[in-house]
Amino acid sequence: MTEANNEAEYLHNKHNPLTTNEIRQRLRCRYCQKLNTVFSEPEAKDPKELKERKSPKCRRCRLPLSEKPHYKWSYVNPDAYIHPLDRQALQTLRAIPGVDIILRKLIGLTLERMYRVLNKAGSVRVSREQYAHLDSKLEIVCQTLNLPKPELYVSLTSDFGGLAINAFTTGAEQPFIVLYSGLVERLTDEELLAVLAHEMGHIHCQHLLYRTAAITLLLLLDTALGKTPVGAILRSVSIPIQIALLHWMHKSELSCDRTALLVVQNPRVVMSALTKLAGGNLNDELSLDAFINQAREFDKAFEEDFLNKFWTLVLAAKSSHPFPVWRISEILKWSEEQGPESYLQLIAKEGRIDVPAKATV
Ligand SMILES: [Zn+2]
Ligand SMILES: [Zn+2]
Repeated sequence: MTEANNEAEYLHNKHNPLTTNEIRQRLRCRYCQKLNTVFSEPEAKDPKELKERKSPKCRRCRLPLSEKPHYKWSYVNPDAYIHPLDRQALQTLRAIPGVDIILRKLIGLTLERMYRVLNKAGSVRVSREQYAHLDSKLEIVCQTLNLPKPELYVSLTSDFGGLAINAFTTGAEQPFIVLYSGLVERLTDEELLAVLAHEMGHIHCQHLLYRTAAITLLLLLDTALGKTPVGAILRSVSIPIQIALLHWMHKSELSCDRTALLVVQNPRVVMSALTKLAGGNLNDELSLDAFINQAREFDKAFEEDFLNKFWTLVLAAKSSHPFPVWRISEILKWSEEQGPESYLQLIAKEGRIDVPAKATV
């Protein structure tokens, strides 16, 4: 019997004719700690019911119940995992003279606009009463990284002039996360945990100041907005700053994919989540394997060269995320560096994280 089963109770109710063959098992959710009662009856006839019984989910956070450990960190220093390309791109951006003054102008505009989005009837504040499972998932992310919990909203419609962002985090002083409901419907529960962890990564890695400016820049690049008086701000942002900002924004995603891996602790879940987040379509496990193979064969040198030309096109394309194949390739490398759990070892080796001696079950 595994250690997770130490707390599990097996109860046979031999006196109840309805549950003659039924075994009730009490399992504590490894993510949120809720004690769940699950039923296993080998003779369930309905295939859907059978499937649900084979892979039971926690009734609070909806994540799969499992006996595997889930690590919670007492402290994670973002420096221990920030992607070198993120760090490098930020240094390049900061080196541009006058960049802070111009970016502050952009940020001033963004906050006003973002709060307007939140006041729209279509946005719902996530709580114990609304989207309770998302509230639990965010709590799990924050407990895993030992960070304070920000506000989370679900928005039904996009207010970004057609900009395809499926989830974002903003607010330089009081950060908050917004998920689009389309994303909530499309992703599995574990993938949603990965997306929330990715978004928390932007807060953890202190991306928000420049990220908020970058999102505003993308908004301003929208034709309709660019033609308004607000477009004057856009014209004050020189092309080299625009390129450096968007260049960094893309690279910053690589760090947050690592945050997702630290929380989810399963590279496949992170890879499928970010593929969907970036607009990829996965029908089944095979699609993900095909995508992973593509990422393995991927020639980074070619991609880097291609991306360098691509950065200027980004301005026209208004893309907010780098290619999923590149992100998958990066997460594969990081997760496989020294073995299947290298990302845990890497951080532990840095001496900047406390690895729990045993799983939190
Ligand atoms: Zn749970
Ligand atoms: Zn991101």
